[in-house]
Amino acid sequence: MAVVDAIQIDETGFRGHVVRPGDPDYDVQRKIWNGSFDRYPAVIVRCAGVSDVIAAVKLGRASDLPVAVRSGGHSFPGLSVADDALMIDLSPMKGVRVDPEKRTARVQAGVLLGELDRETQAFGLAVPSGIVTHTGVAGLTLGGGIGWIMRKHGLSIDQLVSVDLVTADGEFVKASADENADLFWGVRGGGGNFGIVTEFEFRCVPLGTQVLAGPVFWPMQQSKEVLRFYRDWVAEAPDELMTIVIHRKAPPLPFVPEELHGKPVVMVICCWVGDVEEGEKFIRPLKEFGSPVADLCLPKPFLTHQAMFDPSFVPGRWYYFKSCDVAELSDEIIDITVERSLQISSPLTSFPIWQMGGAVGRVGEDETAFNGRTARFTYNIGACTEAGEGFDEEREWVRSFWSALEPWHEGVYVNFLGDEGAERVRQAYGPEKYDRLRALKQKYDPDNFFRINQNISPN
Ligand SMILES: Cc1cc2nc3c(=O)[nH]c(=O)nc-3n(C[C@H](O)[C@H](O)[C@H](O)COP(=O)(O)OP(=O)(O)OC[C@H]3O[C@@H](n4cnc5c(N)ncnc54)[C@H](O)[C@@H]3O)c2cc1C
Repeated sequence: MAVVDAIQIDETGFRGHVVRPGDPDYDVQRKIWNGSFDRYPAVIVRCAGVSDVIAAVKLGRASDLPVAVRSGGHSFPGLSVADDALMIDLSPMKGVRVDPEKRTARVQAGVLLGELDRETQAFGLAVPSGIVTHTGVAGLTLGGGIGWIMRKHGLSIDQLVSVDLVTADGEFVKASADENADLFWGVRGGGGNFGIVTEFEFRCVPLGTQVLAGPVFWPMQQSKEVLRFYRDWVAEAPDELMTIVIHRKAPPLPFVPEELHGKPVVMVICCWVGDVEEGEKFIRPLKEFGSPVADLCLPKPFLTHQAMFDPSFVPGRWYYFKSCDVAELSDEIIDITVERSLQISSPLTSFPIWQMGGAVGRVGEDETAFNGRTARFTYNIGACTEAGEGFDEEREWVRSFWSALEPWHEGVYVNFLGDEGAERVRQAYGPEKYDRLRALKQKYDPDNFFRINQNISPN
């Protein structure tokens, strides 16, 4: 703090707002989604536009403070805030402009997924993104961006046309297939390692406003049979279908039948983007398997489905995740999954198994920095408690479950990594991509100015 006071920030140099410890909104602005991180930055610069981002980077250089960059604040390991750091906060930058004729969207760094969806859906369009509306477009896209329509339309980065970026020297550059193509390759999966992206330009896909979507529930005691059926059924799925399997205690939400509240359940959640009749036909065998206790997979607005998980991932609760990809849902993996899921203690713990593939796997492995195009299923084993009470036990459950799957681990999605060290980041990209990313880091950020992230060290 003393350092920042000593360099006397000229607040008139910012269009946005500088927040210091002791200011009335300091405690609000330093908070991020994961309540298990309670960190105290030295200063928060809330940027109103590109000029503020440039000024903030220069302030970082001049002050020698470590720099944390925040957009949506949804980093699982809390990488958007750090003690005694300069926090460059892009969340005020909310501009979205959809061009319905060209089918493009220009999106500033502070925009959240739900905000982007509202703008694109006004024209029946969509940009592939994630499954919780309050996640940031920026961090999600820079890691790849997986979500409900990816099997049909690819990752968020697969619809990315260009970015505007402020480098570690405070220079403004653009990157696209035609301009700084090396950088454009790197920002499509390489995270915030090369600079601060101030604006994204996406292609929008024609989606319409309705999807056939929602969960089918069974008691968790039937999970073994359900998962065995599911893996065979989903193997034949066309790209129109994306599914996520959830194990949890059923939450007391209006759309969950009351008699299930608090009971352990397994849900297969579908999202079909295409002809509804065809979707109903394909999904029918799932709905008819065993005796589901609830079936909420119905035609509904895409916006409603996109918000389905919001109540399960409320900001401020304590969360812990560990993730891995697996090649198949073998009998052994299913047995481990069922056994561990039955041990879930917290009523808030809810962990997804993602079905991957489809359009994601048809983009060449080397076309972007994202690694994992051949992944089949992604486990994001997560625990949640209201606050600190019971958190350690729940975190231990995650670690132990993840370790039990270790013999079958393949890759890991960089946006689902925790604070797991340099070797895990390298594993996430694989050695070849990592070396290419490192060369890019040497070019764009040789001093590792942007290091509070899933870091690719220049050395
Ligand atoms: C509730 C929840 C749901 C999620 N669902 C999905 C999902 O469906 N699909 C999916 O792919 N991922 C999902 N994720 C993971 C998510 O993609 C990452 O956590 C992502 O980093 C969040 O981006 P953010 O902007 O909200 O985060 P932040 O915490 O603001 O940033 C995350 C990282 O990106 C860097 N960064 C942020 N903004 C910029 C920028 N403008 N320029 C350069 N670097 C930047 C930060 O420094 C930090 O290292 C989810 C996460 C949460 C918490």
